[in-house]
Amino acid sequence: MTVSRRHFLRTTALSAASTLAGLSTVSLPGLFAADSPQKRASKYIDVHTHIGTTWNGNKELTADGLLHWMDEHDVEMSVLLPLTSPESSSFLLLTEPALQAAKDHPDRFVAFCSIDPRTSVRGGRNGFRDVIQRYVDQGARGFGEHKVGLDFDDPLMMQIYDVCQEVGIPLLFHMDNQRGMDQPGLPRLEHALVTFPKLNFIGHGPGWWASISGGLTQKDLMSYPTGKVNPGGAIDRLMEQYPNIYGDLSAGSGSNSISRDKDFGREFMLRRQDRLLFGTDYLQPGQPVPQFEVFDSLNLPADAQRKIYRGNAEKLLKLV
Ligand SMILES: [Zn+2]
Repeated sequence: MTVSRRHFLRTTALSAASTLAGLSTVSLPGLFAADSPQKRASKYIDVHTHIGTTWNGNKELTADGLLHWMDEHDVEMSVLLPLTSPESSSFLLLTEPALQAAKDHPDRFVAFCSIDPRTSVRGGRNGFRDVIQRYVDQGARGFGEHKVGLDFDDPLMMQIYDVCQEVGIPLLFHMDNQRGMDQPGLPRLEHALVTFPKLNFIGHGPGWWASISGGLTQKDLMSYPTGKVNPGGAIDRLMEQYPNIYGDLSAGSGSNSISRDKDFGREFMLRRQDRLLFGTDYLQPGQPVPQFEVFDSLNLPADAQRKIYRGNAEKLLKLV
């Protein structure tokens, strides 16, 4: 019933949908069954959300506000990502509130931790290890969102990867021409993948998702390219070659990478169904999230849905 009602609301003009908001508590058995989409194979684990105020001008997203949105959208669990670099957001989102929310709602939230690689830390590399281990001891299950104004394989970045590999948590990164910088073909990311084979990297952002296509210029790594995907994309090449790289389908960059060329996008999701993670980048009340409709429209087999919507995240974050 939840699914068919949502589908109805989605396919109804916005003005009409708003007048239907009151229907959420009313039971309407069978009313919209005829044009219901195939029921989704599982609830979601969203690997990419932010609580707090991320950008100036944004409304704050509280833990309760996020829970409310999750309930409305069949999201069972969300990963809470701090943002700790000056290039990452207007306001810093610290690790502590994410840990606290996960402690308050252990069945709904998973906390990641983050520390900027340029932070003043005693003891150099081992000092960073102590800080990150401390967060892990308090419940953090991953590192990120790693969104730093340095080259992707800058020695300071490599030091963080080294520590995350040792501590044994995955790292979710943002890539574009301002944060986690790389070049067409992603040689800097490849350098990190080769150097830290036991660290699972999770790719996100325009630079990463533009690389679903080949034939890119440097400018493309900062953009949301439209139209047909060209063969020779770095993502397929790296996923083929390295078992330690995953993709986070969140944000405009993630949904666009699939919707820009749906034939390619559907095949890509089937081909890489063991490496893709559902995510939204939900960070502000009322934010539109295109992922639900884009993925529904692909009519993916149940097996692939289960892996992408939650199974891969459960494995990677050791939730089961
Ligand atoms: Zn984000």
